[in-house]
Amino acid sequence: MNSYDSERMSDLMIAAGHESVLTPEEANVVVLNTCSIRDKADEKVFSDLGRLKMIKEKSSGDFFIVVAGCMAQLRSRDIIRRAPYADAVLGPQNIQRIAEIIDDFVKNKELDTIVSTSFDVDDKFRKLSDKFSTRGVSEFLTIQEGCDNFCTYCVVPNTRGREFSRSVADIVKEAKNLVSLGVKEITLLGQNVNSYAGENAEGEKCNLAGLLFELAGVDGLRRLRYVTSNPKDVNKSIAEAHRDINILMPFLHLPVQSGSDAILRKMNRKYTRSEYVECVCMLREYCPRIAFSSDFIVGFPGETDADFDQTLKLAGEINYAQAYSFKYSPRPGTAAARMGDQIPENVKSERLAILQDLLNDQQSQFNQKFIDRRVSVLLVKEGKHENQLGGRSEYSQAVSVCIDDGEFAVGDIVDVRITEIASHSLIGIIEK
Ligand code: SAH
Ligand code: SF4
Repeated sequence: MNSYDSERMSDLMIAAGHESVLTPEEANVVVLNTCSIRDKADEKVFSDLGRLKMIKEKSSGDFFIVVAGCMAQLRSRDIIRRAPYADAVLGPQNIQRIAEIIDDFVKNKELDTIVSTSFDVDDKFRKLSDKFSTRGVSEFLTIQEGCDNFCTYCVVPNTRGREFSRSVADIVKEAKNLVSLGVKEITLLGQNVNSYAGENAEGEKCNLAGLLFELAGVDGLRRLRYVTSNPKDVNKSIAEAHRDINILMPFLHLPVQSGSDAILRKMNRKYTRSEYVECVCMLREYCPRIAFSSDFIVGFPGETDADFDQTLKLAGEINYAQAYSFKYSPRPGTAAARMGDQIPENVKSERLAILQDLLNDQQSQFNQKFIDRRVSVLLVKEGKHENQLGGRSEYSQAVSVCIDDGEFAVGDIVDVRITEIASHSLIGIIEK
């Protein structure tokens, strides 16, 4: 989502006559778009700011520093105090103001730090430019902002505010705009895309499946994905969409977080372990080719060895194609940060290592199954070597493809025979 927001800020700046440069030393404006999902990112922002301060002191012309994103929303006062040389602090629902703020600074260099952290999400999407600058072949499209779920560990409801769904017309227009720029694959974004409820042309609420069917009709769009689904909101209509829409990729990120009912309850995830398993079974029944990825948190307050064991067992039962796993990180203003029985760091590290071993094994086994198989690959970038292009399979696996000179280009979808499995990618040759 930050990556999407950064692109939209860049679009706004370019539409206002700015251009992008490669290093901060060449720039007149530097925007740090920050994340605060776990605590590591915060201190990194302050050290980046320290580096920018030195560049600012040396620069002879304008040098404006903008801190945007979730950490800016959460710690605006700390930023002003610790980095008084920052010129503006913009929360994630205020990034639409970027060009106007820079314009103000250029006209009036004595302005105090501008802090903009309101939650006017409607304004955000109305004001983001529809003049897009260049795009790759695979891009994100935010369909929903904010989150009402209040999982007890999560800072997102505090940083991005309440849930808001964009209208179907707005999203379809943006998708067509992207396709006209050469985009072939779109990943729809939302903190909880399954509770999407945007207005359709008739003024009625449309769910995610309805939106997917609408987008399937966009001419030239070849692949469609969506993240992130909360298991509690996955229903039959989504399973039907996976069965019936051939551009919808058979790969679903379905974060479980924990395999223990006691921990899921303390996390306020609103599903049980068996409901999660049922959800996976239903999707497999409607779309037998489907594969799953997940997020896991280890060391949530009160997690016992037996709870953690349940997580390992669940991962074993589902058999993931890929997964992300994290040590629980207490976040300011969240309920879990105030819970007793916080888990010591060394226990978290031990559990993470055990879980990651299992998940890495599952990923290698999943990849091994592709040896000698023919897979459909979207070519997304130039490869490391000549006569090589980098692509993505339907399951988002990185695939290195050997080609003959000029035969195929980025943006093509090709059939590839997999000849080798490397540690983080598949390698293959074009099959005609
Ligand atoms: N909306 C998505 C995920 C958003 S955050 C969902 O509900 O699944 C992405 C992932 O970061 C989460 O799935 C979770 O695994 C992890 N995460 C969020 N808060 C965290 C915290 N406080 N500590 C560790 N991991 C966290
Ligand atoms: Fe955070 Fe839960 Fe919302 Fe995901 S669903 S953004 S984890 S509160």
